[in-house]
Amino acid sequence: MAVDTGAAAAPPGGPLGILGGTFDPIHLGHLRLAEEAREALALAAVRLIPAGQPPHRGTPHSTAEDRLAMARLATAGNPALEVDDGEVRADEKSYTVLTLQRLRAELGAQRPLVLILGADAFAGLPGWHRWEALFELAHIAVANRPGYAPHGRRWPATLSPALDAACRGRHSADPADLRTAPAGRIVPFDMTPLAISASLIRDLVKNGHSVRYLLPDPVLDYIAAHRLYR
Ligand code: ATP
Repeated sequence: MAVDTGAAAAPPGGPLGILGGTFDPIHLGHLRLAEEAREALALAAVRLIPAGQPPHRGTPHSTAEDRLAMARLATAGNPALEVDDGEVRADEKSYTVLTLQRLRAELGAQRPLVLILGADAFAGLPGWHRWEALFELAHIAVANRPGYAPHGRRWPATLSPALDAACRGRHSADPADLRTAPAGRIVPFDMTPLAISASLIRDLVKNGHSVRYLLPDPVLDYIAAHRLYR
């Protein structure tokens, strides 16, 4: 596994944010999610991990190599955002539990890891492979997302009874709690509501509309040069 860290290395030992996704393509919603989580939760850095073979959805519309390349372009020059190619390189399905186990082996048992999820992804957690094991491996930070958890509500409208039960006793409103244990807390945080999604961007491109200002210009140029999503 190779990680692009840019010029300045993250302070060793601080909580590391983990943002997985299909990133098909990466957009400003993802980047603000990473940036606002880093700031609100005092994370040392955020590691973006594009899925190779996402298990919960159909085949992505662009290749894993393209999605990785776009993530690298989007984060170039920001040493606080790392891109991890571990899931793209792996032969197996991109299960988050396996990725967190790999990161634990890499970073040690004590480093606080913070899995960053939009409210939609968090609400879908019980559909994930071995989802209850995630709480043993990382903290979870949940951001509002328009349509799922309106700004100020700090939580998806409904949680399944299984997820509700698994969350009991884990809530914390204080990001400082993320430093006192390596895993196990659930911390909601507010981000600037941005109703941007990769599906919206793919639809716009397919129909010949502009996607400028929804994603970084280098990603826009990459999509045009490689004729993606037409
Ligand atoms: P698609 O539209 O193809 O389903 P997406 O835009 O939701 O894609 P993903 O790669 O599936 O992007 O999302 C990765 C993570 O980023 C998920 O946790 C998701 O909740 C979060 N996320 C994506 N877009 C936003 C946004 N605009 N605001 C907050 N969270 C977001």
